[in-house]
Amino acid sequence: MNKIYLDHAATTPVHPEVIQAMLPYYTDFYGNPSSVYSAAQKAAAAVAEARESVARLIGAAQPQEIIFTSGGTEADNLAIKGVAMARANQGKHIITSAIEHHAVLHSCQDLEKYFGFEVTYLDVDQKGLVNPAELEKAIRADTILVTIMLANNEIGTIEPIKELGKITRNKNICFHTDAVQAIGQIPVDVNDLGVDLLSLSAHKFNGPKGIGALYLRRGTRIVPQMSGGAQERRQRAGTENIPGIVGLGKAAQLAGLNLSKKMEQTRRLRDKLIRGIETKIDRVILNGPRDDRRLPNNVHFCFRYIEGESILLNLDMLGIAASSGSACTSGSLDPSHVLLAIGHPHEIAHGSLRLTLGLNNSEEDIEQVIQVLPGIIGKIREMSPLYDG
Ligand code: PLP
Repeated sequence: MNKIYLDHAATTPVHPEVIQAMLPYYTDFYGNPSSVYSAAQKAAAAVAEARESVARLIGAAQPQEIIFTSGGTEADNLAIKGVAMARANQGKHIITSAIEHHAVLHSCQDLEKYFGFEVTYLDVDQKGLVNPAELEKAIRADTILVTIMLANNEIGTIEPIKELGKITRNKNICFHTDAVQAIGQIPVDVNDLGVDLLSLSAHKFNGPKGIGALYLRRGTRIVPQMSGGAQERRQRAGTENIPGIVGLGKAAQLAGLNLSKKMEQTRRLRDKLIRGIETKIDRVILNGPRDDRRLPNNVHFCFRYIEGESILLNLDMLGIAASSGSACTSGSLDPSHVLLAIGHPHEIAHGSLRLTLGLNNSEEDIEQVIQVLPGIIGKIREMSPLYDG
C-alpha cells in the first residue's frame, strides 16, 4: 500500500461513515425496493433520502430531478445521447470543448459516427479556459445541446459555466455540465450555474465506486438509454444499487459539511506543493490557472526532458501514489488531449505529473513529496540525451 496517496482525481477512499451507512443495506435491508414487504420499503425509503441529500448538495429544486446512474460515465452518456435523441427533430448540432473527459468526447463522437450529428469542439486557451465569446460564435440555428465540463480532471481548470449558461439560456439551448471533478471540491448549485443537466460520481468524493447521478432539470426531456423496468421515473431502468445509492447520499451529506473550511485547507496544501516544486526544480511548467479558477486540490506540472511514467514509478517505489493526469487505457503512447489542446508540443505533454489532494493528506505528505521529487527528476534528466544540465 502507498503511504502517501495523491491521486484523488482518479478515485478517493470511501469515508468510514459512508461504509457504516451502506452496510445494513447488504446485511438486513437487501429487499428490492419495488417489492411490498417492509424490508424492501426500508430500502425504498433510503433511496428517497439519498435522493434528497444529492438534490440538497447541488441546489436542485426537487429530489425527483436526480436520476441515479452507475457513475459519471453513464450520467454523461445519458445526458448527451438522451438530449440528442429527444431533440433530433429540432436540430443535430452539438457544441462541446476539446478538453472534456472521454465519457463526453466519445459520446459526442458516437453521435457523429452513428446518428449523423455534427459536433463543434471548442478550443481552450493556455490555461484550459473556454471563451464564452467562442461559444456564442459557434451556436447555429440547429444547435440543440452544449456540454462543457465544470472542472477539468487533468489540469484542474474551472470553466466559466455561469457565463456560458447565460448564453445557452438566451438561445433556448440545452446545457449539460460534467461536474464529476467539482463536486466536493467547490460549491455547486445548478440554478446559480444555469445548467439543465449535470453529471456527478460518488467515488470522486469519498463515496463508493459504480454509483453516480444525473441532475435533470424539470421539464428537460431525454430519451432513456437503458430499456427495461420503470425505475428512476422511467429514465433509467434496472434494479437500484441500494447500498451504492445510500453511500452516495451519505457522501453528499459529508461533502456539503464545512466546505469552505475544507477548501481553504486544501488550497493551502496545494499552494505549498506548487511553491515547493517551483522553487526546487527548474524548467517546470504549471498547467492550469493559478487563481480561483483552479480546483483547490489540483497540482499539475510538466517537466521538460522527462517521461511522466518514469516519475510515477520512482514515486511509487517511495510509497507515493500519483498520476500523469491522463489515463492511457488503450496502452497507446498518445499524449494527453488536454495538454495538446492547451498548446504543448508532444515532448512536453509527455512529461506530466498530476498530484491531487484529499481527505487524509497532511502537511508532512506535502513536505515529503517536495523533498524527494527534485532527486527523482534530476536522476531521470541525467539519462535524457536532450538534457543539457
Ligand atoms: N467525467 C470526469 C471529468 C471524470 O474525471 C470522470 C472519472 O475519471 C468521469 C467523468 C467518469 O466517471 P466514472 O468513473 O464514475 O464513470
